[in-house]
Amino acid sequence: MSNTSKVLITLTLAPALLYSQATLAVLLDAGPALAPDTRLELEEELGALLAQAGVQVLVQDIAPLNHLGAVSGLVNVHLHGAGPVNVGRRGMPVSGSLGWVTQLDGVVQPFIHVDAAAVAMHIGPLFLRGQEALAQILLGRALARVVMHELLHWLTQSAEHGEGLLFRPSVGPSTLIEDGIGLDAAEIWIVRWGLGLVDDGVS
Ligand SMILES: [Zn+2]
Repeated sequence: MSNTSKVLITLTLAPALLYSQATLAVLLDAGPALAPDTRLELEEELGALLAQAGVQVLVQDIAPLNHLGAVSGLVNVHLHGAGPVNVGRRGMPVSGSLGWVTQLDGVVQPFIHVDAAAVAMHIGPLFLRGQEALAQILLGRALARVVMHELLHWLTQSAEHGEGLLFRPSVGPSTLIEDGIGLDAAEIWIVRWGLGLVDDGVS
């Protein structure tokens, strides 16, 4: 087990209450090395600091879930934009990435960004007028596949790509929405290995 501590913060801004109070939810992934007293003081101090700004903090530990084996990994997915899918238009080249992860000190962080607006533009030309509802549903499928691509970067801790349809450097629009596309054998292994389900004798 890693002895490093990771803190995952999920920001939730509640609608403004009577006088602009907000609640910040903090999902704490600290691992087993953090002493309970340290953990408690962390929560109290963070609460005190944010209270000065009228913000309440809710700290939730992910550790109990980890110990129960319910959670083997934790990632945060941030969708930028939300569509809608413009159907029946000629294709416009989508520049830039559909999704990305960032590295810090050589470690791919468990924060996945997906440009949902770009994904919607990417797949829009595949639909005809009248297929708006279908396009909206399949945008969800496309987003999931972009998330999967970025998950593989996180699990491999690498910017390298693979041979599978979803883990190539560039994933075409039809690959994002077609039926019957899944992980290949290598990707399945990556997922299981990355989440500690494969005992390779090295660990
Ligand atoms: Zn990639």
